[in-house]
Amino acid sequence: KNNREKKDYFEFLANEIQTMRDSGLFKEERTIYSPQAADIVVEYPAGSPQKKVVNFCANNYLGLSSHPAVIEAAHKALDSRGYGMSSVRFICGTQDLHKELEDKITEFMGTEDTILFASCLDANAALFEAVLTQEDATIADRLVHASIVDGIRLCKAQQFNYKHLDMKHLEKKLIEASETCRHKMIITDGAFSMDGDVTPMDEIVALGEKYDAMVMFDDAHCTGFIGKRGRGTHEHFNVMGKIDAITSTLGKAMGGASGGFVAGRKEIVEILRQRGRPYLFSNAVPPMIAAGGIKVLELLSETTDLRDKLEANTKYFREKMAENGFGIREGFHPIVPIMLYNAKLAQDFARDLYDEGIYVIGFFFPVVAKGLARIRVQLSAGHEMEHIDKAIAAFTKIGKKYDILGKTKDEIIEKYGL
Ligand code: PLP
Repeated sequence: KNNREKKDYFEFLANEIQTMRDSGLFKEERTIYSPQAADIVVEYPAGSPQKKVVNFCANNYLGLSSHPAVIEAAHKALDSRGYGMSSVRFICGTQDLHKELEDKITEFMGTEDTILFASCLDANAALFEAVLTQEDATIADRLVHASIVDGIRLCKAQQFNYKHLDMKHLEKKLIEASETCRHKMIITDGAFSMDGDVTPMDEIVALGEKYDAMVMFDDAHCTGFIGKRGRGTHEHFNVMGKIDAITSTLGKAMGGASGGFVAGRKEIVEILRQRGRPYLFSNAVPPMIAAGGIKVLELLSETTDLRDKLEANTKYFREKMAENGFGIREGFHPIVPIMLYNAKLAQDFARDLYDEGIYVIGFFFPVVAKGLARIRVQLSAGHEMEHIDKAIAAFTKIGKKYDILGKTKDEIIEKYGL
């Protein structure tokens, strides 16, 4: 008989946690005592004095998380529409603000319609199950976000995946899926959060047309700033209006509070209002967050100043860091991976940068593949030149300390191991 006492199970969990700690994989949270911004006040490690540092690890790409106009709009909605809805949307949780926000997102994204969710994670949990059955196929990039992986698991469609950004492999899978499946959906992220690499959406759309497949992507790391007007990956690759469904978040560049959406074909949005489980069975987005989102969209529709500043900041940082001898993954996205390869080196480097007043995180296995440890820097329009210069100077100082400037991947691996 395999019946064990409950206390054994908690011992088992405690052991799991200890193993994570022993192998350096336990995630410690750092407490911030200020609004989210370029300059933040952090207590780290727990119990140490609070310290002002420059933040290079938020998804606050446009610096809107603490923007006065967004805060004011949220305050006004709090006064005029109350604190919360205490209802799902379809019972008594839909205010004019929700409708207005959905319409504004539709216009911004260049789609037919939009449905709001509490988060992009919820949008990804809703979409596939609502529109695909066991007769259909999902064909996803192997590195799509965890919430897409989970969303796909929830639906009964046959699952195919293709090698990361490999269009030839995608085509092969489309051909395979066409043999047995009714409808096909190509699934990818606009930009991938570990490398800042961007999906060639024009090629995806062309393959979608060639094999009569729907196209869906998650633009959480692009909405608001990629593309000449910040509309996203589809704008950058000139395929606006050709995408069946885009999921994205209001929790990153778009004010950073919370909220997600599916913007796309009207039939998909309508079906989601009827069948999307996270929409039907979870509370409506609070009015003040809807109002904040509306204000963000108004700001971004008036001028492209913020995304232009972010683009300039990113270009400057990427160029200077490469000039100073860092190995950075090429690209144009404000996610800039500084490659260090060795996990301990990435951790030590990030800790030394923190001592220099620069807040970044080292990423290593299992978050990224073994031997590809790095520090991920995220630029923001909230950064001024002095913030960026301070970061470059600190990186260069610590780079000298570890003797990695101008060194190749093999040289760094030879010195520090994998
Ligand atoms: N999709 C991608 C690509 C993400 O990076 C994230 C956030 O980590 C999400 C979805 C989830 O977004 P939200 O915080 O709105 O649930």
